[in-house]
Amino acid sequence: MQGFEHIEEELNAMKEEGLFRSLVPIESDQGPKVTIDGQELIQLSSNNYLGLTTHPKMKQAASEAADAYGAGTGSVRTIAGTFSMHEAFERKLAEFKHTEATLVLQSGFTANQAVLSSLLSKEDVVISDELNHASIIDGIRLTKAARKIYRHVDMASLEEALKASQSYRKRLVVTDGVFSMDGNIAPLPEIVELCEKYDALIMVDDAHASGVLGRNGRGTVDHFDLNGRVHIQVGTLSKAIGVLGGYIASTQSVRDYLIHKGRPFLFSTSHPPAVTAACSKAIDILNDEPELIEKLWNNTRFLKDGLEKLGFDTGKSETPITPVVVGDGAKAHELSDRLVKAGVFAQGIAFPTVPKDSARVRTIVTAEHDEAMLQQALDAFEEAGKDLGII
Ligand code: PMP
Repeated sequence: MQGFEHIEEELNAMKEEGLFRSLVPIESDQGPKVTIDGQELIQLSSNNYLGLTTHPKMKQAASEAADAYGAGTGSVRTIAGTFSMHEAFERKLAEFKHTEATLVLQSGFTANQAVLSSLLSKEDVVISDELNHASIIDGIRLTKAARKIYRHVDMASLEEALKASQSYRKRLVVTDGVFSMDGNIAPLPEIVELCEKYDALIMVDDAHASGVLGRNGRGTVDHFDLNGRVHIQVGTLSKAIGVLGGYIASTQSVRDYLIHKGRPFLFSTSHPPAVTAACSKAIDILNDEPELIEKLWNNTRFLKDGLEKLGFDTGKSETPITPVVVGDGAKAHELSDRLVKAGVFAQGIAFPTVPKDSARVRTIVTAEHDEAMLQQALDAFEEAGKDLGII
């Protein structure tokens, strides 16, 4: 069909720069090894931190719920789509997170959009780290509040923004708990101190910390022992929890308000029973099987130390997200392609997801990898890295 010449031009330019990527369909389940195009590859690109996507108890919970309650819910939550299991899960999650209440949304992306588009008005200001996730950036685009950006994890820059914001009714400081492209942890204790000094509210997006940091994976707020001092925690059920969804953990009044004003909550259908039952089972597993998190961190240290010893630049990573920064976008994709040939699936990530000069292959280990798999990955990185002149 004719009429899309303007986007075709852009696509062609991307192809010329080596930045055009096709989607990569997985033919197996999402385990530590996946089958792609008939080839078995070590999976180093998923966010399935604890291996819960395929945990037998998760699969059983999902299939029992589908049998008992059907495949879908047939409505948005506010009309006829709230099942008792949705509310029971939200209460369980609130207890786990040590907050008064939680509200579950379709995804972490929509959870950020719901909060940021609805909780502030034009008398207020939102102050955001420059490297926050795209869903925070898009959420901020929807707010009527004034917006300020501070330099990445730079507390002097945050303080400057807070000082300049004293005339607003409310100040909301937003940060990722763990930054998704670099794997560094936000300096939350310092952020909390500054926010308390300048009377600001704090929101943390813990997508990559839920199930990873804190006691039993409670997240960065718990990791830094800041329970009760962070006003809003947003989390995802799509990464370590192994299923799909996002949530807001905060007060009962924030939950009540979002039920009435959070547009992604109001206008999009609720999670199928299988999703909610599996998410609920994941919280039991976090409580009952802390050895999964221990294994995740052992694997993290093994791969990170190995990559650093080989001479790769792994940036500021402190978590299971370990970037291998190569600079140029086409080179990152070339490294990724070479790894696939050696049996390792680690995706190249380039502009606009990361700045133009810091394209990378991003690795994420899971609790399910074993040392043999990780050693094979290190060997593949070594060979490809040397061939491409990266190390
Ligand atoms: N926040 C951050 C920091 C993320 O990395 C992601 C996932 N890429 C999200 C939010 C969105 O979560 P979900 O995939 O559940 O929509």
